[in-house]
Amino acid sequence: MITLTESRLDPNDAIARLIVAAGEPWMGVITQGRVFRIVDLEGNQAVDTLFYNALNTEDRYSATDTIRAQRALYLTTGTKLLSAKGNTLLTIVADTCGRHDTLGGACSAESNTVRYALDKRHMHNCRDSFLLALSRWDRGMTKRDLSSNINFFMNVPVAPTGELTFADGLSAPGRYVEMRTEMDTLVLISNCPQLNNPCNAYNPTPVELMFWE
Ligand SMILES: [Zn+2]
Repeated sequence: MITLTESRLDPNDAIARLIVAAGEPWMGVITQGRVFRIVDLEGNQAVDTLFYNALNTEDRYSATDTIRAQRALYLTTGTKLLSAKGNTLLTIVADTCGRHDTLGGACSAESNTVRYALDKRHMHNCRDSFLLALSRWDRGMTKRDLSSNINFFMNVPVAPTGELTFADGLSAPGRYVEMRTEMDTLVLISNCPQLNNPCNAYNPTPVELMFWE
């Protein structure tokens, strides 16, 4: 069952708003106690995201700890996004999409060739966007800092038999997910450039980020 939870926060009160263009990365620190919203502006976009403890980036988002602690595979309102050291980095406080994936991983040159075709290798992918953002960030983080990520707005249902399927998205224009930072958190986003996967309807689109005090 999917439950949707709307936020009471007004975008007009946001302290910052920015657009992440289709296929672009974004990286930044959000201090503890702020609220952070990702808006799927045109619908069915996949927003590949990693979170780190801003004070110690070796302490990063852990999909397995998050899944185990909440005893559920999908992320939605109420989910505590845990780090590998057991810290709560963020809590999802509102969600009008209702389901987000943390099993499917990020697309890469390698996965493009395995899933689609050898000639898709050169295509822009989330892993390259993550690496580009890390190099621009210029604090010594490398591909070793990339672990299993969250795919906001992506629908990867698990069949009763355990099969994983990349399905058509549940999201729609204007749907959003909102989180409260429980500690100073470094955010790394790849707004997925993928052209071969129904997760974003084969059409990468921009998202908006909003921040409240
Ligand atoms: Zn991707």
